[in-house]
Amino acid sequence: MQTLTFDNQFTAQLPADPVEDNHRRQISQALYSRVQPAEVSAPSLVAYSPEAAALLGLSPADCETEAFLGAMSGNQLLPGMDPHATCYGGHQFGNWAGQLGDGRAINLGEVAVADQHWMLQLKGAGPTPYSRSADGLAVLRSSVREFLCSEAMFHLGVPTTRALSLVTTGEGVVRDMLYDGNPETEPGAVVCRMSSSFVRFGHFQMLTARGEETLLKQFTDFVIRREFPHLCGSDEMDREVYLSWFNEVCERTADLIVHWMRVGFVHGVMNTDNMSILGETIDYGPYGWLEDFDPNWTPNTTDAGNRRYRYGQQPAIGQWNLMQLANAILPLVGDPKPLEEMLSAFAKVYQTRWEHMLASKLGLKNHDAALLDELFALLTHAETDMTVFFRLLANINLEDTQPHVGLRGAYYRDDQYNDDLNTHTQSWLSQYRQTLQSQGVDPQQRAAAMNAANPKYVLRNYLAQLAIDDAEAGDYALVNTLLDVLRRPYDEQPEYEQYAALRPEWARTRVGCSMLSCSS
Ligand code: AMP
Ligand code: MG
Repeated sequence: MQTLTFDNQFTAQLPADPVEDNHRRQISQALYSRVQPAEVSAPSLVAYSPEAAALLGLSPADCETEAFLGAMSGNQLLPGMDPHATCYGGHQFGNWAGQLGDGRAINLGEVAVADQHWMLQLKGAGPTPYSRSADGLAVLRSSVREFLCSEAMFHLGVPTTRALSLVTTGEGVVRDMLYDGNPETEPGAVVCRMSSSFVRFGHFQMLTARGEETLLKQFTDFVIRREFPHLCGSDEMDREVYLSWFNEVCERTADLIVHWMRVGFVHGVMNTDNMSILGETIDYGPYGWLEDFDPNWTPNTTDAGNRRYRYGQQPAIGQWNLMQLANAILPLVGDPKPLEEMLSAFAKVYQTRWEHMLASKLGLKNHDAALLDELFALLTHAETDMTVFFRLLANINLEDTQPHVGLRGAYYRDDQYNDDLNTHTQSWLSQYRQTLQSQGVDPQQRAAAMNAANPKYVLRNYLAQLAIDDAEAGDYALVNTLLDVLRRPYDEQPEYEQYAALRPEWARTRVGCSMLSCSS
């Protein structure tokens, strides 16, 4: 295997917990604890991402070596690795939860490639000082979901942590999937994730909660220098740098959520410990893809009561989470006023970018509020598949006498495809046609422009579940096929047409397809 060069700036520059053994504990005056991944009995490679590997300079042949499997299962450290778990806190479902930390994530080290660096992180590689009452492990089903979705999101153009590899460990892991008193032994797995940085809002919150302001400054300066170098010169950092940095975090978060809304992604657990400081999608747990366009939908059964993290609420939660980050960095800025202004600006920035994105989803040059209001009314009139709807819309000829017929394939229920719906659709389509005309949109170019904003292939919840069912039976073909399909989500792929179909009826209520818990 090609040698990887590590440049571990996080552990070199930030203070470590002095305790070395691996028992659960609260720490102070430190950002991380060194910890070794647990040894596993029978590691086996399920899949790897050639694109993620290429970022490290690794070839497909490298990814099929024993050395790669050893490293990605946690059994064999590579020279230069410095494994550690980091300490963060967070607000979970709106409440401050205190110290959380990497309970089952172990950072291996930062691979230096040209002017970039990639932190490699194993998820599910055994307990750490932050595992609290849990085991530090991950099961195959949630690991398949994380692996596939990370790479799918990248190819969709959505900011995300990457997934390099997925291995099974040969160990059994006990989980009570629905928290209903029926624990079962499931296959254990480890995903190797990659990002420039896995720092979360919760890292800053933890330091402020502990009252460690000197360390807060040291850590923030480190993060800005390492991940936002364009914001700082060689001088000591001051209030202006912190403010422009917070502003950039707000903007990246707004962009991230615009993308989620564009593709119909619901994260499911937008706790502040699951918010990346880089504005990447991080921690794929009980996430889901909107099928029926229902702004109130959440895949996460653990959140079924309040639906705090439902599709339509994600922008507001993004802002709430940024407010917690603002509170955490207040000691560095002193005056809350400019932070408050940036938080208010977030709503406007988000709205403007979302309107711009909606215009591109419809192939328009400019946003049209009235047209959009009517579109949302139409999308909720009948059970309508968001992804299929936009792809069909791109392809219908608006000059036809009955253009609404072209949308037939987006509806889930025959009984709802009636005169009422058709009248509604026709009226919206004629409004749409007029708007396109008044904006001078070239009908020849409309479809291509729309198809670049509206994916044909997303990781539908039931597709992930089918891949999991096979993988649990030892067959990894579908995991790899989906990885391949999702590489070109905007292209027509006639050989893979079946993966663009509406969710089948059996998946409507099946656990794993429409309902997921935090158990993973
Ligand atoms: P999550 O809701 O998955 O983002 O996890 C919240 C916190 O619980 C984080 O600190 C995780 O590292 C930790 N955690 C989740 N699952 C486990 C597990 N199986 N073992 C140890 N810690 C875990
Ligand atoms: Mg998490």
